[in-house]
Amino acid sequence: MHELSIALSLVDQVRRIAEKESARQVVSVRVRVGAMSGVDGEALTFCFPMAAREFPILENARLEIVAEPMQWFCLECRQRFAGESVSERVCPHCGGLEHHLTGSDTLTLESLEVA
Ligand SMILES: [Zn+2]
Repeated sequence: MHELSIALSLVDQVRRIAEKESARQVVSVRVRVGAMSGVDGEALTFCFPMAAREFPILENARLEIVAEPMQWFCLECRQRFAGESVSERVCPHCGGLEHHLTGSDTLTLESLEVA
């Protein structure tokens, strides 16, 4: 399962930061998931407690997912705009129809709330 390995490395990263900050408990973890990352936010939410349960510091941690929208890059005016649908997508800046998808393909640990 792809998301379980992501959850495990996320837990590892969170644990190291929390230990460095001498936190006793991690309350919540916020991650930003790029539209092109191929990560299923729901599956990750499901896997996170499984990955976290071995570590007391993380046992009550809540995972918050911030889904980053898809982005398009207009080839006519060279500006970016957000949008989910591929069909009939018109650039809001110039009305252009030529653009390609540039959504982020990364998963980023955005913030941690610790106690
Ligand atoms: Zn445009």
